[in-house]
Amino acid sequence: MGFRWGAGWASAYTWRSSKETTIVNPAIMTEAAAATTNATFTAAEKAKLEADVEAYCQEIRPIEEIAYLERRFNPAISELGLKHNLLGMSMPKQYGGRGADSLTYTRALVRINKEGTGVRTFFSGHTSIGQFPILKYGTEEQKQRYLPRSCRGECTLAFGLTEPEAGSNPLEGTCTYRREGDKLIMNGVKYLISNGSVADAVIVFAFPEGATGADRRMSAIIVDTAGDTFEKEQLHSKPGMYTSDTAMFQMNDHPVDGRNMLGKEGEGFRIAMHTLVSGRLSVAAGCLGTIEDLLDECVRYCKERHQHGKEIGKHQLVQDHLARIEIMRATSDAVIERAAIAKQVSDENPGNKELLGKADFLVAQAKYWASNAAWEAADRAVQIFGGRGWSELYRPFRHLQDVRVCRIYEGTDEVMKLKFGAALLGKDFEAFK
Ligand SMILES: Cc1cc2nc3c(=O)[nH]c(=O)nc-3n(C[C@H](O)[C@H](O)[C@H](O)COP(=O)(O)OP(=O)(O)OC[C@H]3O[C@@H](n4cnc5c(N)ncnc54)[C@H](O)[C@@H]3O)c2cc1C
Repeated sequence: MGFRWGAGWASAYTWRSSKETTIVNPAIMTEAAAATTNATFTAAEKAKLEADVEAYCQEIRPIEEIAYLERRFNPAISELGLKHNLLGMSMPKQYGGRGADSLTYTRALVRINKEGTGVRTFFSGHTSIGQFPILKYGTEEQKQRYLPRSCRGECTLAFGLTEPEAGSNPLEGTCTYRREGDKLIMNGVKYLISNGSVADAVIVFAFPEGATGADRRMSAIIVDTAGDTFEKEQLHSKPGMYTSDTAMFQMNDHPVDGRNMLGKEGEGFRIAMHTLVSGRLSVAAGCLGTIEDLLDECVRYCKERHQHGKEIGKHQLVQDHLARIEIMRATSDAVIERAAIAKQVSDENPGNKELLGKADFLVAQAKYWASNAAWEAADRAVQIFGGRGWSELYRPFRHLQDVRVCRIYEGTDEVMKLKFGAALLGKDFEAFK
């Protein structure tokens, strides 16, 4: 199935050529124009990236299918990412990346997630929330030390904010650091970390040891994971996403290079929140990929499967499911495009709080909408597949169980709604506290 109504900006079949720069939302036209003008990513580079992503997706599919059915981690996700040069899609070329703009990178994640939420989650962990904060807050020396290696597949990255007793409110975290000579000594546990047991370095958020009151400010630290003072464990009890790595790790007086404080000391909360804008957009994009794949599967099945003497697609109640999935796709597509443009504009204007605030809000909306839309779409797709739908042998059920986590990680539905409430009512009404 190759046709999509509308611009289909994110469809694998209708990736826009560089000449097709129509922006659907007039309210963001000026910003979008600015974003296009500032882009250093050429049309040829964009086309090559799209082709590489497509080749990656075609190669990973059969490998991923087997790994999923065998319920095991799939190392080919990153290995083929390296082969097709996708480990630094949105990183600047000077650090070994492809230099993709936010829109193009978002489109790539849409396409990649058609192969599974677990596949896309690797890229989110490595690039959207791993490389991104180093690029935005790292010193030149830190960027040189980590980004080229991460693009060459020599340094897988992860983002370690969540702890057993600190999820929605990371300020309740208990991980600590102290300075000893030229080292930072880390202690504590991080929980539910994507790529957490395969990462060579993790952006860890921690507090100064023993600090209280105003001194207790969170910092972001790049933690190399080598050594027996860093214990890691894959978490296996998950209903889906078997092929991606979700892990916990414990740091026991774990020594880190003293140069690895990311950004200013005490700036960790700001870095985490900024990074989550990037991460949430990647989750939203992934959910759109889920819906696109579901639609492909359902359209095909509706024409193949016969009951009551005709294709099931000729039954109106089946069309109701299909129509609803298409609406979920179209609306998700629209809010994600708007969010990706806002993030791109914000990225191109570092330090502009207003643009970052707008991106934060639009990305949160996109993440909330697309993850719920994908959940509904997956449920309807399972219904269309009937008894076969309730089986991991078919793609709809795999998507159903994988995509549920998108309403939880990188900020829950509830936290997203609190953000919308605060944006509508004003700062005095922030219900987080
Ligand atoms: C597969 C997977 C991968 C993950 N990857 C990463 C990762 O790479 N890095 C990382 O740091 N974390 C990661 N996480 C953790 C994830 O971000 C957290 O699970 C999430 O933020 C929620 O935190 P929590 O699980 O502690 O739930 P809690 O914060 O305990 O929330 C429990 C419930 O209470 C609600 N709640 C909490 N506070 C409020 C409030 N103020 N008002 C209303 N409702 C509220 C929540 O919405 C939720 O419904 C991952 C999680 C999973 C499952």
